[in-house]
Amino acid sequence: MLENTSGFKIYCRLLKYVLPYWWAFALGVLGSIAFSGIDAYFINFMKPLMNKGLVARDLQFLKSLPFTIMFLLMLRGIASFVSRYFMSLVGRDVVQTLRNAMFNHLLQLPAAYYDLTTTGQLLSKIIYNVDQVAEACTNAITVTVRSFAYIIFLLLVMLFTNWRLTLFYLVATPIVAIVIHYAGRRMRRLSGKVQNYLGNVSHISEEAIEGYQTVKIFGGQSYEQQKFYAYNRHNRDQAMKIIFTESLSTMLILFIGAFVLSFSIYLITLSKTTALHLNAGNFVAMVTAMLAIFKPMRNFTEVNNVIQKGLAGAQSVFALLDKPVEKDSGTEILQDIKGEVEYHQVDFKYQTQTTHTLHNINFKITPGKTVALVGRSGGGKTTLVNLLPRFYDISAGEIRIDGKNIANVTLQSLRENIAIVSQHVTLFNDTIAHNIAYGSLETVSRSNIKTAATAANAMEFIVKLPQGLDTLIGENGVLLSGGQRQRLAIARAILKNAPILILDEATSALDTESERYIQQAMRKLVRGRTTLVIAHRLSTVEDADEIMVMAQGKIVEVGTHHELLAKKGAYTDLYNSQFKVYENTAS
Ligand code: ADP
Ligand code: MG
Repeated sequence: MLENTSGFKIYCRLLKYVLPYWWAFALGVLGSIAFSGIDAYFINFMKPLMNKGLVARDLQFLKSLPFTIMFLLMLRGIASFVSRYFMSLVGRDVVQTLRNAMFNHLLQLPAAYYDLTTTGQLLSKIIYNVDQVAEACTNAITVTVRSFAYIIFLLLVMLFTNWRLTLFYLVATPIVAIVIHYAGRRMRRLSGKVQNYLGNVSHISEEAIEGYQTVKIFGGQSYEQQKFYAYNRHNRDQAMKIIFTESLSTMLILFIGAFVLSFSIYLITLSKTTALHLNAGNFVAMVTAMLAIFKPMRNFTEVNNVIQKGLAGAQSVFALLDKPVEKDSGTEILQDIKGEVEYHQVDFKYQTQTTHTLHNINFKITPGKTVALVGRSGGGKTTLVNLLPRFYDISAGEIRIDGKNIANVTLQSLRENIAIVSQHVTLFNDTIAHNIAYGSLETVSRSNIKTAATAANAMEFIVKLPQGLDTLIGENGVLLSGGQRQRLAIARAILKNAPILILDEATSALDTESERYIQQAMRKLVRGRTTLVIAHRLSTVEDADEIMVMAQGKIVEVGTHHELLAKKGAYTDLYNSQFKVYENTAS
């Protein structure tokens, strides 16, 4: 699919990123041209060097020779600096812009995209593929411009020396061009593959690192190894194919050159045509130019590889940038809400699933009340609450807050009104204070953070940590226990002080004892807010204003704890089964 995009289109799109730095680009190109010009001039310089210097021994000329050479070489040094420096400036700036754009885009992608993509693949795009673009933009362009200019200059030298011979030389050019073209196409295709395999390599490494405990306990080493080895081998195979293509095309070009060069020398030295005869200086300049032209030709094929890699990198970068972001077409601002939440005939299907996960969901929560969602795992509880902050878009029906359809509301204002303590607590490798105040660091005072931490019953363990609120907690809070992490998440939600609160098995990581402790914190949190609470342990939701029982994506029962028990339906079954489990574990 990607391979169909033409290199030209990608180039044009990249060029848009280069445009702001056109002056640096122009300087770089000028530097490169000057550099090659001086090199070609040196070859042309063979003529006076031979004829005036060596054959005629012109003293005046010989005296000025060292100065001329020093002057030219210094000029060449300056040209080299200018071309390298300014080209790299362009490349690095383009990479910076692209990386920022990718990261921005990443933050706006819908949940469904994250469901389908591995972190490793995304990371390798941001880290590796972008760098390939930089290489293509800097080194490769420098070398291309230099080589191209060098070839032109050398041809000029040759034309002025003997145009007939030069024309003969030029006959070989189309053949060389064809070789370069085909090699380039193949290399871009291969580079795309190499980059994909590298994404997989980093994805598997990451899983093995994050899941090291599971890998060790369940003896997953050899399984992980095999997967890793396979991708690593594919990566190597593709890379070798690239190198083969590159070396082969270089060899072909050298072959073509060998024929042309030797035939030219035959014409100059042995042929009877006087038009092809040259004096000493011209002969040396001509043969040197003919030899010198190989290097830039060969550079072309080598650099072509880098450019094709860069194009493949750019292609995957652009593919990411083209992924549609979360739909945010709503214009109404949701603020100062009372907190009435209503689901009206809501159906929902995950893109990746063939059947609907939620069917005809209807309920209404009065502001400030607490509604509990219970039911067996996989029933759709998490899915249901994730629709409220619009992580996913519903396929039918309406969700309303204070009577407003949330589809017409801006995402930002919608999410400002919702706090979530989710099944999987997410903490950042930062201090406790920063984790609690996440997203509102600028507006929140330290005493606010403390109050929230105290309300979440988290202060009692925080004060025991070496640096208190300023303790770093490691990647995703590995240095804390499950209960401590959940209390931080609760503190974060308390601090956000949003009118709508979602608690998705927020106390699942706790034992009954700590849970009771946190219940106090939760009660404080829930007061005065519209709360949707999902709980595995029914004992924790007995005093909810209303309990909804979910099964297979439907709400099957609604009522208070006592009403539902009296019904002797699904809730009673659930209740009894838990009761038995506890009885069994107790005995
Ligand atoms: P619960 O929270 O009640 O345990 P979930 O809402 O997590 O249930 O899951 C309900 C169903 O939706 C399950 O069958 C699950 O496989 C499916 N599901 C959950 N998350 C996703 C997702 N991101 N993509 C596709 N299917 C999903
Ligand atoms: Mg769940």
